[in-house]
Amino acid sequence: MSTPEELPEPKPEPKPEPKPEISSDGSPDQTVRDDITFEQRPPTEYKPGMVVGVLGAGQLGQMLALAGLPLGVRFRFFDPEPKSVARHVGELVVGEFHDRAAVEAFAKGCDVVTYEFENVLVDAAHWADLHTLVHPAPIALAVGQDRAQEKKWFERVGLAVPPYALVEHESQLREAFASLHGALGEAKLAGSSAWPQGVVIKTCKGGYDGKGQVVVRSEAELPRAWQALCEQLPHASRMGSNPIIRCIMERLVPFDSEVSIISVRAQDGEFDTYPITHNVHKGGILRRSSAPAEGLTPEVEAGAIAAARELTACFGYAGVLAIELFVVRGMLLANEFAPRVHNSGHWTQDGAITSQFENHVRAICGLPLGPTALRPGIGACDMVNLIGGHPPVAAIACLPAARVHMYGKEPRAGRKLGHVNCVGPSHKIAKFQADRVAALLGD
Ligand code: AMP
Repeated sequence: MSTPEELPEPKPEPKPEPKPEISSDGSPDQTVRDDITFEQRPPTEYKPGMVVGVLGAGQLGQMLALAGLPLGVRFRFFDPEPKSVARHVGELVVGEFHDRAAVEAFAKGCDVVTYEFENVLVDAAHWADLHTLVHPAPIALAVGQDRAQEKKWFERVGLAVPPYALVEHESQLREAFASLHGALGEAKLAGSSAWPQGVVIKTCKGGYDGKGQVVVRSEAELPRAWQALCEQLPHASRMGSNPIIRCIMERLVPFDSEVSIISVRAQDGEFDTYPITHNVHKGGILRRSSAPAEGLTPEVEAGAIAAARELTACFGYAGVLAIELFVVRGMLLANEFAPRVHNSGHWTQDGAITSQFENHVRAICGLPLGPTALRPGIGACDMVNLIGGHPPVAAIACLPAARVHMYGKEPRAGRKLGHVNCVGPSHKIAKFQADRVAALLGD
């Protein structure tokens, strides 16, 4: 017979979740309405020993657990890959995201469920949500997986985006290209004479780390570029002999730099952001980050932070949300958001009082947020990603201000294997250390 201590905790009542806007097969013509605000979801009540379920078991899951275990919570991961790295820091349940029964069974054993990569099947998040609370709200996942919807939401909360057009078929390319370079495009651009000719075509869904997108500098290149995208998506539906691929065509932005805002919202609406981060990408993959970013006026920063606050509030959000933006002559253009902890926030592990990982766990478990400021004595933190081949870990570990974070993954071209955070009292010193790391990597 069970003792009272062994009796299962009562689960919250099933919630009326606003989800009819997303079709069960994720069909592209169904969109999340961007003219309403979603209700705050019922709060999760923190209790020691509670189980956090994570859809996905990669390095972000691993780092969530490393930050969350000291808070007294346990982690359980769901992933199709039996060798997923997070298996070392929590129980791993192996299953496919489209296996509804497996996802539901997993969720039933958890007190709260989150996700650690943004291409998690939205349906899987909804199925889990039938049995336990999923944070951040699956609605944010759905919007974040679709570049066209994402742009509408950015505009709703007052964030400008690069001029763009929706295209689905090869026959639409020339007209879209022309309109983005004609009156329509130019009208939206401050100082447009400095904007080079060219666009980026990005698939609305499924792209990440530079995949699913192609740069086109002239009209003549459009057919070849479209062909290249089609080859990446062999299963696209067809119209005649041509595939239909839902894409956005976006003006090539002559950005001065790229930045991100890592924000976090608790279930009671408490909201905070980390110092804005400056990011350097190569080949569409993040290479280095540095915080706090320099060169933005307080007004521009405040506007972006207010937009992040409103976006998370609209979604009834709990957890970390990252927004990536281009800086063009001191102004910001929003590129995309990720409803999860983000690579450009990894520096917070060593540079901030509370890391993005701990704050995500706090937020989804119903705890108050921790301070997001730089740690006392630290003026800046630079992060260097370890990508591709075996990094010289021993040599990097000799650097006094370098903190190595390895993920335990096998080397592979373009794969993120770890990162190094370099803290310092000033930008100059943090950057000096990060440059030494980069030199050891041969960058
Ligand atoms: P994304 O997948 O949208 O994050 O794009 C990956 C990277 O490609 C960005 O971080 C930029 O460096 C670059 N990029 C994306 N969109 C544009 C654009 N419209 N203009 C110039 N560069 C872009």
